[in-house]
Amino acid sequence: MKKNVPRQGKSLVRSVLLREISRLRPGHDSLTEFLARYVTTDKGRYSFDRHGPLLEIARRLPELREVWILKGAQVGLSTMAVAWGLYLAGIKGLQAGYALPTKIFARRFLKTRFQPIVAGHPLLKESVQTTIDVGLLAVSGLGVASRAAQVYLYLLGLENLSDAISIPLDALLFDEVDVLNQENMAWADDRIAASANGQKLYFSVGMNPGLGMDAGYQASSQRVWLVRCPACGKDDQVLEELFPACVRRIGERWERVCAGCHRPLDVQATGRWVARYPDREVEGYRVPQLIIPQVGLDYIMRRWERASRRRSLMAKFRSSTLALPDAGERQRITAEQLAAVLEDYHPAQTAEWTVGGADVGDTCHVAFADLAGERLRFVRLETVPADRMVEELSALITALGCRCFVIDAKPFRTEARRLARRHPEVVVLQYFKEQTFNMGSETHEGVTYHTVSEDREDSLDAYCDLFTMDHRGVIFPRYLGGRDFMDSEVAAHHLKGSQKVETLDRRLGKMVPRFRKVVDNHYLMAGNNARKALVLLSQGRGPGGLGVLPVFGGL
Ligand SMILES: [Zn+2]
Repeated sequence: MKKNVPRQGKSLVRSVLLREISRLRPGHDSLTEFLARYVTTDKGRYSFDRHGPLLEIARRLPELREVWILKGAQVGLSTMAVAWGLYLAGIKGLQAGYALPTKIFARRFLKTRFQPIVAGHPLLKESVQTTIDVGLLAVSGLGVASRAAQVYLYLLGLENLSDAISIPLDALLFDEVDVLNQENMAWADDRIAASANGQKLYFSVGMNPGLGMDAGYQASSQRVWLVRCPACGKDDQVLEELFPACVRRIGERWERVCAGCHRPLDVQATGRWVARYPDREVEGYRVPQLIIPQVGLDYIMRRWERASRRRSLMAKFRSSTLALPDAGERQRITAEQLAAVLEDYHPAQTAEWTVGGADVGDTCHVAFADLAGERLRFVRLETVPADRMVEELSALITALGCRCFVIDAKPFRTEARRLARRHPEVVVLQYFKEQTFNMGSETHEGVTYHTVSEDREDSLDAYCDLFTMDHRGVIFPRYLGGRDFMDSEVAAHHLKGSQKVETLDRRLGKMVPRFRKVVDNHYLMAGNNARKALVLLSQGRGPGGLGVLPVFGGL
């Protein structure tokens, strides 16, 4: 019956609808009103009844310039983001981009997420045209009663730069942040630089601790949903951090309960958002499944039971249910392992004996270590600007009695060679080549230099093996530069740098896990070079030859 509405009938429908929508006041509540009135999901009209914590986010969204929402899967945020895109275009007349990992992904998303919402309300159906081929929605102004200009909402696939469009945008919404091409993401950022509204909304499950989505959230105000138990008064309960102590079986059902008195909790009614870093400019929310009653506990607990038996499933559970990013077995050095290798000692100004390693870039990261028992104990961790690297590294090598120093041959080969000429019995130039650990030499303009090369993966794996709980082959100082080691760059580089990602191996023609390349991993690389220096030295293969390894512990 609806299919053949005559033209005049159609515009009548439209004018009635436009009158209706013009009653939407452009106040800060408008998105919530828009959601409640015009957005339907497969469960019916969008409602905050069982998505309570999302209400504050929807209310504040219009006023936020940048927000990172670290979320669990299926908590209702994608729907809100879709609505936000339609609202920006239709009500505000602003151009927005909705970024997804690939073009194919973007088209599928347009079909499966945008189109059902558009089809779900006659006004949206009337005002929004979609062009699936190019991932485009043309939205006629919903709020403007006069002849409406068309505004575009772009569904972007960010797999290559040609997809990151060149027209200016007022808002960018980033979905699936951890899978998006990070370089293109930064490039797309520039699209909103010129807009007075310029808004960036990131929302995604986080899979990689310290990277992507997690890094963005960590740098934000870090809002968490705090629950206060009305029965016993226990406050500040963060369910995802208390899990599984905050869920119990009561009779036939699983219930969210107070971690103190174990009575059932109404998490919506007794919770509130609190920022852990209220002074930070960028806003961040963490939305685990546990605080959204719409997500059933039966489902959550079934997944939990399965995950309890397998580490890889546990990582997924923590990332997608608790919104606590976990890389599972892809994380070669974990925070727990790092915390277990800390001891109380002061970094050294001078030493009789050390080995050292440098990661070379615009800033050189340097690590010196001695031996404590049979463990590599890092006694000095330092950065040196590249333009002074030869002088400063030379001074450190001397002050710390360094017997073997492994430094990247690239990208500053001239400087690395200059350093080697100053300390010919100490410095070894490092290359990553596809071969087993091998000491060699190279000659340039009549001077011979010591070199060491190793397969990158094998090399980093060997270093990461030093951190395993049964091995504990390394020691780091508990405090570094006046702060906890775990808050230091050294720790951050080890956590980020020791993650593996599935990477296409062109030779093997399949995906294999590899250590990340473009990531802040400098102290991990420096520490690994120090490890190589120790290997060379202990095997008598260092430039200084045999017999320089001191004997510890009175042996
Ligand atoms: Zn209680």
